[in-house]
Amino acid sequence: MEITRDIIPEGNVNRPGARNSCRYITVHETANAKRGADACAHAGYVKKLRERTSWHYTVDDHSVYQHLPDEEKSYHTSSATANENSIAIELCVNADGDFRKTVDNAVWLVRQLMKKHGISAEYVRTHKEWTGKQCPATLLSGGWKEFVTRISAEEKKSITVSELRAMGYSEIKL
Ligand SMILES: [Zn+2]
Repeated sequence: MEITRDIIPEGNVNRPGARNSCRYITVHETANAKRGADACAHAGYVKKLRERTSWHYTVDDHSVYQHLPDEEKSYHTSSATANENSIAIELCVNADGDFRKTVDNAVWLVRQLMKKHGISAEYVRTHKEWTGKQCPATLLSGGWKEFVTRISAEEKKSITVSELRAMGYSEIKL
């Protein structure tokens, strides 16, 4: 998977240039079911927006677009804390897209960002967790738990002594 950088121009109202601490990753869905409303289309859209709405990445079933540098604040929720401390990802839900593949690509992207910024799975949130908005709607109606399991799967690099014992390694000098 490649990330296409298509960055919002400096000075746009939706690119304030302020700092994002990158402590969290926030997952959204575009809620745009129109055919053709893929990542490329949203990259064009967010660059032309003249209001305080923006996010960092859009993922569809065949591509990932980046709209802002990770370390810059975006306007993806009504919560200043969320906007100043999280990398925002939008999943496309266009009718002509394969949402399962979009989720696969989002898992890939979230893992990349977790590694890059040292973010653990418990800091990967839904939009809903910040403000109560029903977003990402499709994943919240089924699939969010699995999403978290999938991004957590590769996270575990070390194993604890008690876990080793539970696995039957009691003879090993721990
Ligand atoms: Zn959202």
